[in-house]
Amino acid sequence: MPRENIILECTECKERNYVTTKNKRKHPERVEWKKFCPRCGHHKLHKESK
Ligand SMILES: [Zn+2]
Repeated sequence: MPRENIILECTECKERNYVTTKNKRKHPERVEWKKFCPRCGHHKLHKESK
C-alpha cells in the first residue's frame, strides 16, 4: 500500500505541528484532523500542508 509522508498544519496559526503518514488510496484528497496545537494551546483543525 502506498503511504506518503504528510505535514499537518494548524488552520489557525499555520504552525506545522505534526508529521505523519497517510494511505493515499484511503485518503486521496487532503485530510483534516483535530489535534492539539501547542501555539494556540487548544485543539484545532489541522490540515495537510503541501
Ligand atoms: Zn495553532
